[in-house]
Amino acid sequence: MNILLVEDDRDLAANIGEFLESAGHRVDYSTDGLLARRLCSECHFDAIILDVGLPGINGLDLCRWLRTVARKNTPVLMLTARDLETDVLAGFEAGADDYLRKPFSLKELAARLAAIGRRGRLGSGVLTVADLELDMATLTVARAGLKRALTPSGLRILELLMRTSPAVVSREQLVELLWGEAPPASDAALRAHIHLLRQAIDPPGVPHLLNTIHGVGYRLAGGLDAP
Ligand code: CA
Repeated sequence: MNILLVEDDRDLAANIGEFLESAGHRVDYSTDGLLARRLCSECHFDAIILDVGLPGINGLDLCRWLRTVARKNTPVLMLTARDLETDVLAGFEAGADDYLRKPFSLKELAARLAAIGRRGRLGSGVLTVADLELDMATLTVARAGLKRALTPSGLRILELLMRTSPAVVSREQLVELLWGEAPPASDAALRAHIHLLRQAIDPPGVPHLLNTIHGVGYRLAGGLDAP
């Protein structure tokens, strides 16, 4: 893979860079957010490893810019110093695909990177459940005729939920979908993804479509009680 590594801790960056290159990847490297932004607009990368705390512009703003201004779907693995629920949410809200909390092992980094690289393309066609619509060609989501913004992982989760609806998608299926063989140790990331998805597709004032089936998973269906 062609990887952009954005990390201002030079020792850590050298460590990660050597490891990735020895595994056969091509690595471009930036210690600040502004240079990284320029590289992103000029070059194609298969994945971006992005530290949150950076000089220039921070990782969250850079990721948000990548998704909303540059409109690129490049998988982003965020490196964070903390993994409080609010940090995890902020990362996913900015459009990150996954995150790793420092310190992490290089083995863990490789596994997560492989998982986000493997996610590949979504299916095709237009999916509908009740008044929710997902257009796989344009990756746009509309609820009751209004456009909704979703994160890359949110889109994947929603696609699976819609294709499976009205049947239940288990937590295990979602973990497998997002992380494959390398699931994160805590379920904070999955909870954050579901939270953001629910905010996007079930705004206040409309009947809820996303239902939590406690101890099992999630189901997308109209005409059911709100969770
Ligand atoms: Ca930093």
